[in-house]
Amino acid sequence: MIARTHDLAAITGLLLTVAALSPLPPMSLATIIAALVANQLGAIAPDIDQPTAPLWRNVSFGKLFGRFFGRIMGGHRFLTHSLIGVALLGFVVNWLLVFIHPLFPSVDSTIVWWAFMIGMLSHLVMDSFTKEGVPWLLPVPIKFGFPPLRRFRITTGRAIENFFVVPLLIVIVIAICAVTYPELLQLVQDRVVE
Ligand SMILES: [Zn+2]
Repeated sequence: MIARTHDLAAITGLLLTVAALSPLPPMSLATIIAALVANQLGAIAPDIDQPTAPLWRNVSFGKLFGRFFGRIMGGHRFLTHSLIGVALLGFVVNWLLVFIHPLFPSVDSTIVWWAFMIGMLSHLVMDSFTKEGVPWLLPVPIKFGFPPLRRFRITTGRAIENFFVVPLLIVIVIAICAVTYPELLQLVQDRVVE
């Protein structure tokens, strides 16, 4: 799946969580912004094993690092595209958030961490719709996909993704925003002023 699809899927996951858990406890504006950023980073994080990932395209020597990480992670759609890989990355990100928390005391690290994890899981879910599938249960070396029959799945970057999946996700995001508008408004208004 292309990066835009992953970005939209991650925000969809986040909005669904907000809708399911609302009313959420009041949180600072810094927490809301950090959670949105973390959610988008989580959306593209599993593709650090790919030299052409958006993450690597934007840094100098990115391709080189990308290839290096790809090797370590076992190639594209391997460790970072599995539940065990998500857990490991989640552990590292949690450690990082604890480490930098003193710099941003008004940010609720737990909420930011969950937003990141939702982004990462949404990536795996979306990649499951592609022909290649996802090795969810590594070290079990089977790539799972939906629908189970490969020929009904999507090829990344093809017209169906650009003209069907992306618009569909945009409609879903708008629909959830419309339905949960009071809760979202409450979240921003109730925020803890630091
Ligand atoms: Zn991927």
